[in-house]
Amino acid sequence: MPDPINIQTRILNGASDGPRCLITGGVHGDEFESMHAIRRLSRSLDPATLRGTLTLAPVVNESAYNRRHRTGDDELDLARICPGSPDGTVSMRTAHALTQLIAAADYYIDLHTGGTGLAVWPLAGYGLHHDPAILDTQRRMARAFNLPLVWGTCGKLDGRSLSVARDHNVPAIYAEYHGSAVCLPHGVDAYVDGCLNVLAEIGMIDRPHPPSAIQWVIEDDRPNAGHMQICHPAPMSGYFDPVVHLGQQVQKGDPLGAVCDILGDTVQTLTAELTGIVITLHTYPKIDKGDGLVVIADTDYALIDRKARNVTN
Ligand SMILES: [Zn+2]
Repeated sequence: MPDPINIQTRILNGASDGPRCLITGGVHGDEFESMHAIRRLSRSLDPATLRGTLTLAPVVNESAYNRRHRTGDDELDLARICPGSPDGTVSMRTAHALTQLIAAADYYIDLHTGGTGLAVWPLAGYGLHHDPAILDTQRRMARAFNLPLVWGTCGKLDGRSLSVARDHNVPAIYAEYHGSAVCLPHGVDAYVDGCLNVLAEIGMIDRPHPPSAIQWVIEDDRPNAGHMQICHPAPMSGYFDPVVHLGQQVQKGDPLGAVCDILGDTVQTLTAELTGIVITLHTYPKIDKGDGLVVIADTDYALIDRKARNVTN
């Protein structure tokens, strides 16, 4: 039996009773806003003001973090192999350890970014849970997090941290903020604020609701709506030059960018397959045929758009 994985955590025991909340970052090893924000949370939160227990894990996937990559030494994606196994490869054992943390929580927040190759428009997401009470809690958590997009997607995807939470009936959300192998200070700020907003929403701290920053609430229950790697595949290998930006509204058929070869003689244009908001861009220019270059959130499924921005809980 290989050594078990010990995910490094900081546990804040509140001065009074309350729920147990888990916040994780670094499920993918190259996602930095999440790691930095969680460390700042652990430094700045005073347990005397906390009700319940907060478990903070800045870097779940140390194997991936140490090789400066999305995945660990075995190249398995931690967010596709949960709940893992106690006697598998390093990622399988990490997934198993993460599953134990999630199963012990009453609420769960998993912070991501676009990693090295992608940038993501700030969003808080959740799976459309079959249990209406859990779904309602997830909606409240995601709106409380207070990023521009609140995005509910198909709850049936397996292998994720959120599918572990679903299977243990733990209300859970994830968040995305930029990426591209940098660590944006305003992304870290937004993540710290978002986590504190959710902790207030679930009664673990006192904190006034900030003005809403939500621009869209979209719930799209089609299979794979939340699967970012398979949208708008590159028509050929080469250099990708996008002509849209994160948060931009596009119509079906609009150009999204072009892929060219080394001399620029061969150029293929990528066009939008649907009408909506650009939420993910491949920002690392060298791409391979089939790489997902752009994700568009389908505004046909919008519950609230910016014309009705007075979103409250
Ligand atoms: Zn991630």
